[in-house]
Amino acid sequence: MRWSSKLQFSVPSSQFSVPSSRWKAGYWVLSTGYWVLLASATFLYAGPSADEKHISVYSPVAIYTLPVLEHAGHEYVGLLELLEPLGRVSSQSTGRLLRLRYNAVDAEFVAGKTRAKIRGRDFDLTAPFLIENSRGMVPLNSLSTLLPRFLGTPVNFRESARRLFVGDVGIQPSFRLDASNPPRLEVTFSAPVNPTISTEPGRLRMLFKRDPVVSPASQSISFDSQVITHAAYSENDGTAELDIEASASLMASFSSDRRTIIVSAIQQETSGTPATPNASGPGTQNPAQTSSPAATNATPASASGNPATHRILAVVDPGHGGDERGAALSDTLAEKDVTLGFGRLLRHELEVRGFAVALLRDGDTSSTLDQRAAAANVAHAGIYISLHAVSQGSGARVYTSLLPVEGTNKGVFHAWNAAQAPALPVSRIVSAAIVAEMQKRQFPVRGSSASLRPLNNVVMPAVAVELAPGTGGVADLTSANYQQRAASAIADAVVSVRDRLGVQQ
Ligand SMILES: [Zn+2]
Repeated sequence: MRWSSKLQFSVPSSQFSVPSSRWKAGYWVLSTGYWVLLASATFLYAGPSADEKHISVYSPVAIYTLPVLEHAGHEYVGLLELLEPLGRVSSQSTGRLLRLRYNAVDAEFVAGKTRAKIRGRDFDLTAPFLIENSRGMVPLNSLSTLLPRFLGTPVNFRESARRLFVGDVGIQPSFRLDASNPPRLEVTFSAPVNPTISTEPGRLRMLFKRDPVVSPASQSISFDSQVITHAAYSENDGTAELDIEASASLMASFSSDRRTIIVSAIQQETSGTPATPNASGPGTQNPAQTSSPAATNATPASASGNPATHRILAVVDPGHGGDERGAALSDTLAEKDVTLGFGRLLRHELEVRGFAVALLRDGDTSSTLDQRAAAANVAHAGIYISLHAVSQGSGARVYTSLLPVEGTNKGVFHAWNAAQAPALPVSRIVSAAIVAEMQKRQFPVRGSSASLRPLNNVVMPAVAVELAPGTGGVADLTSANYQQRAASAIADAVVSVRDRLGVQQ
């Protein structure tokens, strides 16, 4: 994948302007635990041209995708390209004759002829052997019988989807609905997976190109939920697809071993207005609708005038969690507990101001920084707010990413570690608004920038707020009143800049 080369992450230590060594250590250590969800169409490699066909091959030794050529009404694939990842191949061509050896198996093919010889025996192709740009090509619908002759093992070729399985490599998904509110769907795979995930209103789509995912017991599954209603499996052009359908916006997060994907509904409804798949707003927009920077505050003519149906999604990310406790704020107080309480308060403050809010963890669970950023990106959030706490200093510090701002749009390709760059000007506006609101309330505050993850990986406006004690010492950090002052200042500030929020192109 084109992204893999960009995942190497290093930050010269001089770039850190963060006083707390805890932040630095935490982010640095965690940043080595890579695995990255390739997410969201605004963010991703858009894929090859639609008229190019592909075949994917899954075997215990290699997984690869090859182009498919059409000739005289038949689909062809390069024979050497097909065999090379699976074993040792040598070949020799003389005029129309191709001689090749795969491991210890000899074969001969003649351009324009269907009759070939493999292991000294005749073999009939379903269409004539082809030499195209000096590449020997065989028809796709011969592969089920042709490949076993070379490999000595049966293959399972799902011809209509152009997916070829060598050996027992299929990965099976299973589903478990957790009917809590909002509901979650746990999709568990029999081996680690790395799908491309995108969302659109009422649907979350996982595309498995490199993973040999096969159909669950039933291709279409209904869930006993009004919110997450269906899962449907399909496969086409060398890719398996799993679609989760819902009556609300969905987001995905990942277990650390990459075997479980948790799909959760984002609660959008307030004051009796149910979420609908047609609700507009960045939380439910498809990528095309976010193409204009003004799109997030432009009410489409067709939308109702009721602001409750046009809500911006805020992702609130309480730092740390699970085994990763964050800073020890006192002998008994862990940062992860402060950030969770603070996050819940902030969620409430944003919700009463008309935002849809996704809390990235609503319990003592852990996820990597990449997973947190990816979850925000996949959800097409309008703003991302990361929360931390420290025992030294006073009041709050508001951070934005230290990335250089991109002068011009570089298209849809953003390096994972610079995904924030296009949104950075708005992130700074958000940060300045939070600082101003806190100052208004005599809450000590400083704005700052830092080369911190996952801010750098988030495609929408993003800030981190680090809460330090006030005059009451560390006890302030668990004081509902103190947290409340900070949370309502942040929420008021976000409201004041809501017209600027959303993914910048
Ligand atoms: Zn922290």
